[in-house]
This record gives sequence, structure tokens and C-alpha cells, in this order.
Amino acid sequence: MVDTLITNGIVVTNAGTYRADVGIVGEQIAQIGGSFLRAQTVIDAKGLYVLPGGVDVHTHLDAPSLGMMTADDFQTGTVAAACGGTTSIIDFCQQSPGGTLAEGIDNWDKKALGKAAVDYGYHMLIPDFHDRIADELATLPGRGITSFKLFMSGKGSAMIDDQALLSAMAKARECGALIMVHAENGDAVDFLQRKFLSEGKTAPLYHAASRPARAEAEATSRAIALAEITGAALYVVHVSCGEALEEVVRGKQRGVNVLAETCTHYLFLTTDDLDRKGFEGAKFVFSPPARSRADQEVLWRALRNNVLETVSSDHSSTRYHDQKQVGRSDFTKIPNGLPGIEERFILLYQGVVSGKISLEQFVDLVASRPARTFGLAPRKGTIGIGNDADLVLFDPASSRTISNENLHHAVDYSAYEGMRVRGRVVSVLLRGKQIVRDGEFCGEAGYGKFLSRERVEV
Ligand code: MN
Ligand code: MN
Repeated sequence: MVDTLITNGIVVTNAGTYRADVGIVGEQIAQIGGSFLRAQTVIDAKGLYVLPGGVDVHTHLDAPSLGMMTADDFQTGTVAAACGGTTSIIDFCQQSPGGTLAEGIDNWDKKALGKAAVDYGYHMLIPDFHDRIADELATLPGRGITSFKLFMSGKGSAMIDDQALLSAMAKARECGALIMVHAENGDAVDFLQRKFLSEGKTAPLYHAASRPARAEAEATSRAIALAEITGAALYVVHVSCGEALEEVVRGKQRGVNVLAETCTHYLFLTTDDLDRKGFEGAKFVFSPPARSRADQEVLWRALRNNVLETVSSDHSSTRYHDQKQVGRSDFTKIPNGLPGIEERFILLYQGVVSGKISLEQFVDLVASRPARTFGLAPRKGTIGIGNDADLVLFDPASSRTISNENLHHAVDYSAYEGMRVRGRVVSVLLRGKQIVRDGEFCGEAGYGKFLSRERVEV
């Protein structure tokens, strides 16, 4: 006797694809294959893939962005995640400038409480690093937070120098945490921003011109060198281009403990999108910026060759009609970021459709490896007995056109408007409970639980 039986589906894990029924008892997967005597609820998955729920390890919900708050809070953001096939997120919990890390966590707990519709963990985002904060880092693993993010750009605000990065790395290593860096050379970006503004070049396109690939590659290479020197484990967020990827590959070849992600938008958007007519380019202002078609191909190849750990959304949504307008006469004032928490899963699946990655690699990148990398495995990210019953029933035969009207986030555009995609998320289960039925959310805000994460082995 099981509570829920998913029958007639095709189970896909990162290790293989096979026909099997899946039985759920309580919140966990209790049986895969074999015969089932009885079930309270039977879900027919004929013609559907049964996939592990997506794990998106890079989101910003209810977060400050250049003096504004993101359009999505924990409720709209996680409902969108669920409808897109994502059942776990790791959000960036932020320290307030001048505040302690503990206050940041309490603040984020309040934001998530009663609102999260999928399970969620935190990375600690540290915009104001100093000696007392360095000492406080050691307390975070005890609260289930085992990754800390620092900024190598953002001159005059969040940017840290090498000395601070070295000190954070040494502390992270001691307490079993991963250091994450936003890798762009902040001085170079600042220099170019001033130059363009002084020449009257204020349009969104200059956002890309002021953040060249070499500035990203330089900071990536430096962060890897510092990780090598301190023996810390490093995770480079949002690798956007071949030049930065090269540095990651070199570091890995030297045996440095360096991991890296790319994001959906680097696989589908280019610098040309920043040059769309009028002020439309502002919708595509995020950092690092979108690059070239050649960079997209390099990143897809890296995914195929298992060089990158995951594809995350870096969902950070601000509305076009009012929030993005603030930068109309100065590209440096446009709030950075774009929505993508709902589109990530289906867009990455297009790599399977076009033959760039295998179906099993898709599952690995969208769920299994991010869960493993961030201390959530085995309960999250794969289909196995005893794991949380976080499942996506996916129809590979259907297709649709992405349109903002059909998305669930609280922002007024999708960067992928009008894109034709194959496949459809039909149903989603989170810890055994159905939260999406026929593409629509049927769960409840507040059902999502905090995910306390394991220390990393350094
Ligand atoms: Mn960043
Ligand atoms: Mn981010």
C-alpha cells in the first residue's frame, strides 16, 4: 500500500532512462518498479517522463536591487518556480549594509515564512565584509548555510579587495563552506562606465561594452588563484563567456577545487538584445552581460563535457514599465537582472531537443548536480528510494510558445517572449504532494520548507 502511485511513466535519472512505476509513502519515494498492490491516489503518466524536480541554486527573491526591491517575492517567485518544474531553490540571503549576518538570516526567514511554495535554502550574500563579519562566518554552517557570496565588482559598494577575499576563503575552508564569487574586475568596469558616460554614451548597449569578457576572465582567474593559495573550495557564479570558462578549465586542470555555473540567459541571449529598439534593451541588462553566439556554443559544449556544474536562473526580476525606466538616461542606473525562474527548466531542455546535451545530462544539470554540489543530495535532485518525492511529469511531445501572459512571476516581461519550445511541465509533486496540475499551481504558499545544508568537503 502506497499513498500515491505514478504509473505508466518513463523514469529519467542522470544515470539512465527506464519504464517504471513510482510509489510514494508520505513525503518520500518508497518504491521504484515492481508490482504495487494498492494506492490511495493513482496518477497516470502515460507518454510522460518522470523527472526529479528541478534545483535552481541561484535566485534573488524579495531582494534589494539598486535601491529598489525585486518584483518577485517568495510567493510569486516560488509559484513560478513550481510551474516551471523547479521544486528546490537556493536564494541569496543578504546581509544589510552595516548589519550582521544573523540579522540577514532572520530577515530572510521572515520573507519566506508563509510564502514559499517550494523548498528553499540560502547562500549568504555579503555586501559589507569586514573583520567582525569574517568572524561571524563560522556560525553559518550551524544554521544550514554553507556557501558565502562575495563581489569582485561593484566599486564603491559591495566590491571587496583581494585581502578580504583571501580572509573569507581561509574562514570558509575552516568551517566547511564554499566561497562563491561574482567575478568581474570592478575597477575595469568602473573605468569603462565613467568613460562611456563622459562621452554621452548612456544607452543599455553600453552596459555590455563596459563589462568586457576579459574583465570577467581576469577576475575569474584571480579568484581561482586565491582559492589555490588558501586551499578553499570556490564556486564561480554565472560564467558567461569562453574567456572566463577557459580560466575555470585551467584551474580544474591544476587541481584547484573550482566549480562553476552558467545561466539560462547566457545560452539563449546575446549582446544584440541590449541593442533592441527604443529602451527595450533594458530588459536584458544583467551582469555579466549577454555575450556572443560563439560564447553560447562554447558554454553548451562545456555542459555537454560536464565542465560546468549547473545552469541556474539568477532570477532577479524588476519591472520594465517602471523599475527599469530609472536608467533611461544612464545605463549604470538600470537595475540589473532578469526573470527566468520559470523558464530555466524548459529552456535547458531545448538542449536535448537540439542534440546539444543528452536527456540524462539535462536531468543532471537541472537537478542532480546542483543538489550534490550544494549539500542537498541525496534527498533532493534525483529519483531514488528514500529521497524526497519531488517529481516532474513532463510531456516531451507537446510544444508551446513562451509568452509572459502564461508565466507566473510578478514581472511584466519574459526575455524569451515568442520563443517556440518543445516539451511541457504537466504536473509537479513536492515531498509527495501535488503542487502543479495540468500546468497550473495547485499547492499552497508556505508549504515550502527551509533546507538546512551539509558542510562541504574541502
Ligand atoms: Mn552576481
Ligand atoms: Mn545573482
